[in-house]
Amino acid sequence: MNTVTDPTDPTSLRTRSGLALHGVTLSYPDGEQRLTALDDVSLEVAPGEFVAVAGPSGSGKSSLLAVAATLLRPDHGQVLIDGQDAGALSERARTALRRERLGIVFQQSNLLASLTAVEQLLVLEDVRGRRPREARARAEELLASVGLAAAKQRRRPHQLSGGERQRVNIARALFGRPSVLLVDEPTSALDHERGAQIVELLAEVTRTHRTATVMVTHDRDLLTRVDRVLEMADGRLRG
Ligand code: ADP
Ligand code: MG
Repeated sequence: MNTVTDPTDPTSLRTRSGLALHGVTLSYPDGEQRLTALDDVSLEVAPGEFVAVAGPSGSGKSSLLAVAATLLRPDHGQVLIDGQDAGALSERARTALRRERLGIVFQQSNLLASLTAVEQLLVLEDVRGRRPREARARAEELLASVGLAAAKQRRRPHQLSGGERQRVNIARALFGRPSVLLVDEPTSALDHERGAQIVELLAEVTRTHRTATVMVTHDRDLLTRVDRVLEMADGRLRG
């Protein structure tokens, strides 16, 4: 959606869909001082593009996703989601933007222990107010599309493998039809083969759902399926 335009700059990213970060700096309190977690980071990801951010532990990868997810406000710089400047929005508008445009898969699985796989998606529906039968059909279809067969859709998280739980997380992130998909270390709890399958799945959903996808990882073996790899070191990003 072209919601913001900058007439002085015809190539402005503000007019584009997907995700853009411009000159983002983020620091955390650190005793008397501040620790710089992101240092002048810029990034653009177009719809249908799958970008990996690789870097060692502590390099700022999760901080980058938190800022892109509009969960943390940067000290400086801009975060644009489908051309909308997140920093210029009210808290309420930013929450709506997050809900309507962002899909987030966090490092730690945050599935609810008491709910079945299909219910993990339907519980989101309370917020979004679609028709129950329609919502259930869509949830089942999405779960099937990420490789979770009907019988497993009725299982609770502890009855699923780590890889299956990650598939539920991905389906849940896609349920709101996001334009930007943010994924933090999706394979950290999986063996290599299952990790590779999850990355393959992310490549596939990026294509079919046309999401601007950013996956952060410290596992370089998994980067064969992505369109681009950016390197993060000490809060700085390199192409
Ligand atoms: P990564 O995901 O690459 O491991 P993080 O973004 O989690 O990196 O962390 C980047 C730096 O910021 C690290 O030095 C980390 O210790 C620090 N950090 C992360 N979160 C916080 C926080 N909430 N408060 C203070 N420092 C933090
Ligand atoms: Mg991290």
